[in-house]
Amino acid sequence: MLKTVGRAARAGEPLMTKRDYYEVLGIGRDASDKDVKDAFRSLARKNHPDKNPDDPESETRFKEIQEAYAVLSNIDQRRRYDTFGHEQPGGNPFGTGGFEGVNISMDDLFNGGFESIFSNFFSGASSRGPRVNRGHDVLLNHRIPFEMVQEGGEREVEVELMEACDECGGNGAASPDAISSCQPCGGEGRLTQSRKVGPFLQQMVTDCPHCRGDGRIIDKPCTACRGDGRQKMPRTLRFNVPPGVLDGTRLRMSEKGEPAQGGRGRPGDLYIQLTIDDHEWFERDGADLLMALPLGYPELLLGTSVELPHVDGEPLHIVVPSGSRPGDTLLISRRGLPHRRGRGRGDITVLLKLHVPKKPSKEIKKQVEALRDGLSISDDDVEDEVRREAQERRRNR
Ligand SMILES: [Zn+2]
Ligand SMILES: [Zn+2]
Repeated sequence: MLKTVGRAARAGEPLMTKRDYYEVLGIGRDASDKDVKDAFRSLARKNHPDKNPDDPESETRFKEIQEAYAVLSNIDQRRRYDTFGHEQPGGNPFGTGGFEGVNISMDDLFNGGFESIFSNFFSGASSRGPRVNRGHDVLLNHRIPFEMVQEGGEREVEVELMEACDECGGNGAASPDAISSCQPCGGEGRLTQSRKVGPFLQQMVTDCPHCRGDGRIIDKPCTACRGDGRQKMPRTLRFNVPPGVLDGTRLRMSEKGEPAQGGRGRPGDLYIQLTIDDHEWFERDGADLLMALPLGYPELLLGTSVELPHVDGEPLHIVVPSGSRPGDTLLISRRGLPHRRGRGRGDITVLLKLHVPKKPSKEIKKQVEALRDGLSISDDDVEDEVRREAQERRRNR
């Protein structure tokens, strides 16, 4: 099973012999965003560990490529890197846990086809040797408050996950002597059967039923995990929520999922799916925000200003000009949420509504009656107003 301790230690090591990010991606300092993306895409495909199961270096290379891409594809981080190189003030941009690939959405890059491109390599289709294992992917759901979308930030959650058994190191045996090679399949984990179908000789490869495809027989299973090689362990996960993150985004922590069966093979990946709490009054459209503001007739007629607490910590001033009408919208520029991976912020659209008291008092009714003559549309004018309203609606379409 996967030794998380070992992995964490590696991530925390000083990054002494770090290669230049541009060199890693094989591009010049003046490369465009598209160049960066293209270079990453092609290198990531070539060096993905699933594609190079016999090359232990591929994982390191892949991480290096991911990290270089994460920095160079982000305008702010690239600028800082160009200025300071790896020695950035404030330390490692990926925080204390080191880079885990969480800021890259593979789905974005590969249009959702990322997993399907690579998953075939581990489908057990190889014809020699024991079946290559891969642990299960794990999907965790995590809620974040709406306000967190503004700045992003670090999250820490306590979870229980399957890890390699401490006792046996994940092989499931009471001792190394208790493991032997499976006789019927010769340790291959699979059996090949030939049968004749008409003029053809068809070869069928099946998992060996004696060792269930494992290639090993455990004579004496580990008592701690009963031979499974895995145990549930509490774990603290730390990850960064990128600013502007969308609801439903999955952060991927490579190989932090369940360990492979028998401790042989790569662990699965861990995905953290973010659910963003609703805001009390904003609806969200990417980086833009939309809200409705009900006001009384006097406020619409005379104009007013309203102040509301806002997600960025600064009060939001909404200035309603006199002569406003229900259905009018006010645009407050650049006070929305940050754009993902880009610069700047979205806008806020405020939709004005008319607040009408449900049960006005007799006194109020009388006073409104008195205003009727000055404010109503006379019966003669109704048709004109209806026509004018339609014209205006079409002009604004
Ligand atoms: Zn065990
Ligand atoms: Zn066998």
